[in-house]
Amino acid sequence: MKIIVAGGDGFCGWPTALYLSKQGHEVSIIDNYVRRKIDNELHSNSLTPIASLEERVAKWKELTGKQINLYEGDLTHYDFLKEVLKQELPDAFVHFAEQRSAPYSMIDREHAVYTQENNVTGTLNVLFGIKEIVPDCHLIKLGTLGEYGTPNIPIEEGYLEIEHKGRKDTLPFPKQPGSFYHLSKVHDSHNIMFACKIWGIRATDLNQGIVYGLETDETKLDPVLTNRLDYDGVFGTALNRFIIQATVGQDLTVYGKGGQTRGFLNIKDTVRCIEIAAENPADHGEFRVFNQFTEQFSVGDLAEKVQKVAQEEGFETNIAHLENPRVELEEHFFEAANTKLKDLGLEPYLLDENVIREILRTVITYKDRVIENNILPQVKWK
Ligand code: NAD
Repeated sequence: MKIIVAGGDGFCGWPTALYLSKQGHEVSIIDNYVRRKIDNELHSNSLTPIASLEERVAKWKELTGKQINLYEGDLTHYDFLKEVLKQELPDAFVHFAEQRSAPYSMIDREHAVYTQENNVTGTLNVLFGIKEIVPDCHLIKLGTLGEYGTPNIPIEEGYLEIEHKGRKDTLPFPKQPGSFYHLSKVHDSHNIMFACKIWGIRATDLNQGIVYGLETDETKLDPVLTNRLDYDGVFGTALNRFIIQATVGQDLTVYGKGGQTRGFLNIKDTVRCIEIAAENPADHGEFRVFNQFTEQFSVGDLAEKVQKVAQEEGFETNIAHLENPRVELEEHFFEAANTKLKDLGLEPYLLDENVIREILRTVITYKDRVIENNILPQVKWK
């Protein structure tokens, strides 16, 4: 298949591009490198030193003989996007290319507006581009499990059968997002659903959980192929951030009580989920929703798991409960369905102590690069 990976320079996109290329697909990457620019804005960095995208792709070609085409540009620039679509005529468009940090979207008005303009306009352009140029192309869009919030009922995959005043219907599952970033994903979902309905576009919305881990078999082939790894208070996500905090002797910072429960998955499963979605496309007019996570944990449980492994590896670590910078429930019911990807063949890599140990040992190599002042949360919701 011809597959475009938009956001292919990022944490999820780069390993996905490599994996799809290894599997024999013709892969092209679109990226505007804004994530690297945001590192400069925040005086932050990836824990791992990351080569330029040109160097990464050249190394991949050298090692495997496989070509990945590069398009530097912004999805919010429609003329650029149209040219890429005309040139590539993709069968699938994998869309990772969004501002993905909830805290970043909550910094101030400018960052909220940037997040929603970037994400919503980019996705609208992709929808119009598919309609005009490649109407058979399957859109595989990264959403987030956070679109649903934490309702006091089990979360279904996209839709809910409901009986109300004696009548029944299957309706989109209610969304209760917890940041302007999560809201941008909800707006995207609505736009995609509408485009499927009116134009017959085929789309899969992947409501992804929090991704942990760093390397895949492909990124491990050479240091130039190494993936980026975020650990700061703005882009660092739970688990990866805890592991890095443990290696530099900082407390593991749990926000509030730590009962916040979320869905998680290994980066090795992210790349597989995208392949599964691509190989089993949605029908024309179908807005298909998969919940893309493999296990759910509370943030407090995760901190304890990391603390235990870190101790065994010689790192004494405390768990600190910080005043929660976010507005969210800290103890709540959470039970989300995730059978659809497994039904299509996903065999998850589950989280155990060895997985944590492996990430921790990789991270130790780079711990001198950690800018410790960046780890604590600075952005408040209120
Ligand atoms: P990332 O920031 O590492 O990668 C996103 C990439 O998209 C970056 O390389 C950035 O430069 C590029 N980009 C952003 N806006 C663009 C635009 N307008 N035009 C072109 N390129 C643009 O993020 P990630 O962690 O790889 O996340 C990828 C996707 O998966 C995001 O949509 C995110 O919301 C979703 N997601 C991620 C996680 C996670 O834990 N990392 C969890 C759930 C969902």
